[in-house]
Amino acid sequence: MIKEWESVIGLEVHLQLKTGTKVWCGCKSDYDESGINSHTCPICLGHPGALPKLNKKVVDYAVKAALALNCQINNESGFDRKNYFYPDAPKNYQITQFEKSYAEKGYLEFKLNSGRQVKIGITKVQIEEDTAKAIHGKNESYLNFNRASIPLIEIISEPDMRNSEEAYEYLNTLKNIIKYTKVSDVSMETGSLRCDANISVMEKGSKIFGTRVEVKNLNSFKAVARAIDYEIGRQIELIQNGGKVDQETRLWDEENQITRVMRSKEEAMDYRYFNEPDLLKLVISDEEIEEIKKDMPETRLAKIERFKTNYSLDEKDAFILTEEVELSDYFEEVVKYLIDKYDAQIIFFYSVDQKDEIQKIHKEIGDSKNIFSSIETPTIKDLVPFLENCDYYIGNEGGARHLAQGVGIPTFAIFNPSAELKEWLPFPSEKNMGISPIDMLEKKSLSLDEFNKMSPEEQFSLIDPDTIKKMSDELIKKNKRK
Ligand code: ADP
Ligand code: MG
Ligand code: ZN
Repeated sequence: MIKEWESVIGLEVHLQLKTGTKVWCGCKSDYDESGINSHTCPICLGHPGALPKLNKKVVDYAVKAALALNCQINNESGFDRKNYFYPDAPKNYQITQFEKSYAEKGYLEFKLNSGRQVKIGITKVQIEEDTAKAIHGKNESYLNFNRASIPLIEIISEPDMRNSEEAYEYLNTLKNIIKYTKVSDVSMETGSLRCDANISVMEKGSKIFGTRVEVKNLNSFKAVARAIDYEIGRQIELIQNGGKVDQETRLWDEENQITRVMRSKEEAMDYRYFNEPDLLKLVISDEEIEEIKKDMPETRLAKIERFKTNYSLDEKDAFILTEEVELSDYFEEVVKYLIDKYDAQIIFFYSVDQKDEIQKIHKEIGDSKNIFSSIETPTIKDLVPFLENCDYYIGNEGGARHLAQGVGIPTFAIFNPSAELKEWLPFPSEKNMGISPIDMLEKKSLSLDEFNKMSPEEQFSLIDPDTIKKMSDELIKKNKRK
């Protein structure tokens, strides 16, 4: 009989907190490869007799992150020493939270592509310190202590995930939520987010989990997903061939797309944990938690609701515009610009089908004041009734843009990253001229009906650029609302 298998996945995510200074000393925490060992002092270099002092900002940021992850905050917790000898740990131990962490019992919720809603538990979140960064050359290794004692939080999930897609979405959700709190850059590229994956397999329906393997050295969310898939396959094959999975730490080999043994898994007792004698208990009062709650940035869910109400966006569009906090901030900046300048309500027409394109372009143009939106191959006919109800058209399609102006809507459109900002803003400019169908139809003695029957090419062939400049000033005036 062929057995069916089920996999179990738990993720450990480390985040660097953007506190500006390190967790036990005043050294700068903006770890940067270009300056080596420039942000160090006796405390973060672990000199004998140097005493750590907890940075208050670390606690604030850590609590903010944990609240965003739906965790309970413990009023009392403490720090422990995790003892091990390794060149990147100058004290020969790492200060972490082992016995009791400051936050626990959280969860993350997200939807999979299939539409299925998933809820993944977060066991606990703990505050700890980063290690120095080891840089391995061909014949020698270097250590950069700028990274030593940068504040970290470790977010430990329950073993609730069942496949790589869930793990991938868990990470994306976590990243977006933390980005909203602005306490971490959450970037795998720069190392401010790191993830280890724990993977085991068991017979389908079993209540007892299999032996887990921990995979490290994962440098992208895609790598996490691929490593999970690889491990699931490897473990099933191993068991089916009569072997058994060893509890071990493996490394993801990106080049060969496989995992390799790194070391057998150490047990907690190997670390000889004990309470950190140089630090007081970590006490976080309810009042402090309330203060931090007040200071929490708007959540994505709240922002979606607000975008729907304030900008007449539908659910889907609000969802996409809020997926990345930068994009939502940028969107609002643009809206504010328009409102300040033209004192008008703005209705956005935005196609959800071009999400990837939007994000790509967003990256390319950075924070120039372009406006995002797009329309999927619109025809003038489709757009007239819609645009007549708009105060602004924001889009990328040349034709629609012209038409928008034509029906009297100031247009702020660019979807072309190579377009120069000044070509478009401030409106109007020579290059941003459109056509007024109303004007034009009068001029050409055409009815709207006849116009609507024309092909877009024919419609555009009617454009009379000379009238446009004059017209657009009037359009702006006309659209200015009180
Ligand atoms: P460690 O000290 O080994 O890093 P942690 O408690 O920090 O242990 O993290 C263990 C992680 O492994 C958690 O995310 C947990 O959900 C996950 N995990 C525990 N048991 C299993 C299992 N049998 N299969 C898969 N993942 C597991
Ligand atoms: Mg761990
Ligand atoms: Zn220091």
